[in-house]
Amino acid sequence: MNNRIVVDIDNTLWDFAKAWWEYFKDVDPDVPPIELWDRWHFWERYPDKKMLHDTLKKVHLSQDKFLPYKGAKTFLTSLKKKGFYIIIASHREQEALEVTLKWLHQHELPFDEIHISYDKSVLFTNCFAVIDDSPSVLQKAEEAGIVRAGLLNPWNKGTDHPLFDSLEEVLGYIEGQLQS
Ligand SMILES: [Mg+2]
Repeated sequence: MNNRIVVDIDNTLWDFAKAWWEYFKDVDPDVPPIELWDRWHFWERYPDKKMLHDTLKKVHLSQDKFLPYKGAKTFLTSLKKKGFYIIIASHREQEALEVTLKWLHQHELPFDEIHISYDKSVLFTNCFAVIDDSPSVLQKAEEAGIVRAGLLNPWNKGTDHPLFDSLEEVLGYIEGQLQS
């Protein structure tokens, strides 16, 4: 079996949306609440892309101020125990690499490799599964014929991808895929 698994960070290992919303609110007090982020590209209504980019970057550069999801460590540790080679993949700037590594170590989140870029699908040709919340990433994984799963969020609700309420359930699904 190919034992490589690609694991996203934002909204997979921690509550990125909440942190982003907090930063965003300072710039636009009318930003809709997260429950209404029902489309992945909801923010296209904002013509100022620099503002979006700056707030995203601000969150990523202060990654070490935030906590991972409660189940994140157990999730990754369990994947390691199953023999997976974990590639942490995140859509963020290279400048955020150092603080991202610091955060992973700080919270003892095990991994084998880290991939920071704007296109994680380059990893899909040689892996078993992808864990991500982005509908477009999940779509690309489906097209690549690999196992895909993620946490259920307002922006991916209603898609036909395997989405779950907890990382524990995601793990259960991956284990099931190993057997099938
Ligand atoms: Mg994500």
